[in-house]
Amino acid sequence: MSEGESPDLTELAKRRGFFLQSAGAYGGVSGFYTFGPQGAALKDNIENTWRDRFTVQEGNMEIDAPTIMPEPVFEASGHLDGFDDMIVECPDCGESHRADHVVEDNTDYEEAEALGAERVGEIIAEYELVCPVCGTGLAGQAIEEFNLMFETNIGPGSSSPGYLRPETAQGIFVEFPQLAEYARNQLPFGVTQVGRAYRNEISPRKSLVRVREFTQAELELFIDPEEDEPDLSAVEDVVAPFYSAEAQEDDDGEARELTIREAVDEGLVADPWIAYYLGVATEWYERIGVDMDRFRFRQHLGGELAHYAADCWDAESYITGDWVEIAGFAYRSDYDLSKHDEYSDEDYTIFKQYDEPVTVERPTVDPDMSYLGPEFGGAAGDVADALETLAESDPDAFRDAADDPEGDGTVTVEVDGESHEVPVGQTGFAVEEVTESGEHILPHVVEPSLGIDRALYTVLDHCYREDEIDGEERTFLELPAEVAPTTVGVFPLMDRDGLGERAREVAADLREQGLSVAYDDSGAIGRRYRRQDEVGTPFCVTVDYATVGEARDEDEGEPGTVTVRERDTTAQRRLPIEELPETLEALRDGDLEFAEL
Ligand code: ATP
Repeated sequence: MSEGESPDLTELAKRRGFFLQSAGAYGGVSGFYTFGPQGAALKDNIENTWRDRFTVQEGNMEIDAPTIMPEPVFEASGHLDGFDDMIVECPDCGESHRADHVVEDNTDYEEAEALGAERVGEIIAEYELVCPVCGTGLAGQAIEEFNLMFETNIGPGSSSPGYLRPETAQGIFVEFPQLAEYARNQLPFGVTQVGRAYRNEISPRKSLVRVREFTQAELELFIDPEEDEPDLSAVEDVVAPFYSAEAQEDDDGEARELTIREAVDEGLVADPWIAYYLGVATEWYERIGVDMDRFRFRQHLGGELAHYAADCWDAESYITGDWVEIAGFAYRSDYDLSKHDEYSDEDYTIFKQYDEPVTVERPTVDPDMSYLGPEFGGAAGDVADALETLAESDPDAFRDAADDPEGDGTVTVEVDGESHEVPVGQTGFAVEEVTESGEHILPHVVEPSLGIDRALYTVLDHCYREDEIDGEERTFLELPAEVAPTTVGVFPLMDRDGLGERAREVAADLREQGLSVAYDDSGAIGRRYRRQDEVGTPFCVTVDYATVGEARDEDEGEPGTVTVRERDTTAQRRLPIEELPETLEALRDGDLEFAEL
C-alpha cells in the first residue's frame, strides 16, 4: 500500500473485486489498476449517471474519439510544449519525484506548482527537504520539466509520431467544424465524451487518485460569449461550499456555504456558465454518494490560472487524509478553437447571423501592377498584399495620402523589413459599402472536466461504514442504489427442498427486469448478508419455506412471499413474489422508499 491510502478501503477493494494493481504476477507497474467485477460495474454505473446528467438531461451530443492522436494535434493544443510537471531526482537512490509535491507534503505551501520551478527549488533548499524514499537531501538538485504525454509511433518507423491523449477534450475540439454542422451551426451546443486518458505521472500515488491511465468525463460547451447565458434558475438553490482564492490566502480563511445564485450575485463565481455547472456537478456528486460535508469548490489562485482562462474552479473531495481535486471547471475563452484554426487547414469559426443585415464600409485596394512590377520587381506581389493588409488595418493612411495638398501623396508598406512608398493613385484604394448578413466568430468554451476514477474512489471512501449488528461488527458500503454494482442479492434459506430452484427462478425474473442480481447459496445466511453489505448491495431477497408454501406456522410468512432486507437499516419486509421485480426496480430508481413498503 502506498502513502495516503485508506487501509480498510484498499484491502476491501482488492478482496471484494473493486480494483487491484494490474499485472501483479509480473511485479505490477505503479499507476495502472484493473477494475474487478464490482469496480467495473460501479464505474459503469457512475459513468451512466454522468451521461444521464451531463449529456441526456442537458441535451448535449456524446462522441467517442480515438485515444491516440497525431503530433500536430498536440502541437496546436500546446501539450507538446507545455504539458510538463516539475521533476527532481534523488542524487543517491535515483528515484524521481514531483518537486511541487515534495514541497506540498513537507511544508505549509499549497498548490506549489503555481510558484514555478525556481521558487520550488529554493523552498526545497530552505527547508532542507529530503528524498521521500531514501532520505537523502534534495537541496541543489536541478528541477527539470518533464512532459507527461506517452509517445508512440503510428505505423512502422518513426516518421509519424503519435501520443496517447492526455485528456479527452482534444478529440472534441479537433472535430469542431463537423460537430458544428451536426448542431446546425447553432450556438450554444455541448459535446461530451467519456473515455480513457493517459499521463506518464512522475510518481503515481494514493491508489486510484493519481494513475497513469484513467477515465475522464468531459463536456465542452461552445457558446457565443456576447449572447448566450445559462438558465441559472435550474440550479440556483443548490448549496455548495465555496473556498475562494481570498480565503485560501487568509490564514483563517474557510470555505463558505452559498447557493449558486448567491455565488453569482456576490461576484464570487465570475462566469454564470461556470456557476451553472458547479450547480449541476454538486447535484451529480451527491447523487452518486459523495458526502457533501467532505466536498467543496476551490477557486484557482492567480498563479494557477492558465493565461487564457478567466475563471477556474476545482471540485475537491476529502479523501486519503487530504483535499484532492476531482474535477476542474474552466472558462477557456476561444483559446482551443483559435489554436486549431491557426494550425490546421480547417475553419473553426461559426457564422453568426445578424437579426437585421447591416451595411458596413469596406476599404479595398486594386493596385496597378503595371506600375508595381517595374517599380518593385520581385517584391511587387508582396507589396500588393501589404497594401491590402494596410487598407484593412489603417484606411486613413490612404485617405491622408489622397488628401495631401501636393497631390502626390504616398503610402508606406514594409516588406521583409524594407519600406516601400507607393503613390496612393497607384493603389486603387476605394471604400465600398457592403451589406452583411452576419459574421464569423470563434465560439468560447466552458469546460467541466470530471475524473471518474477519483469520483469512484471518493464514493467508496465516503460510503464506507462500520457498525455492529446483533453484537457482531460489520462493514458495509452505503452506496446509492442507482450506482451499486449489484442491486439485489438472492439467497435460498437452504439449498434443498426446492428452495434453491425457486430462488434461481426469482433471480432469473429479476434479471429479466433489468436488475443486477447476485445469487448466493453458500454458507450461513448472515454471512451471505455480510458479503453483500461489503460490496454495497442495497437489497437482499431470501427464499424460505413460506415462499414455497411450507411454512411451519403462519408467522413465518404467507405462501408465495419472500423476505426483502435493506442493507443500511437491516430492516426486513415480506413481499409477494410477483411484486418483487417492479418493487425492486422502483427502489433502485428512487421512485419508492424501503420504509414505504
Ligand atoms: P492534478 O493537478 O491532480 O494532476 P489536473 O489539474 O492536471 O490534476 P485536469 O487536467 O484538470 O487535472 O483533469 C481533469 C480531471 O481528470 C481531474 O480533476 C482528475 O479528476 C482527473 N485526473 C487528472 N489526472 C489524473 C490522474 N493522473 N489520475 C487520475 N485522475 C486524474
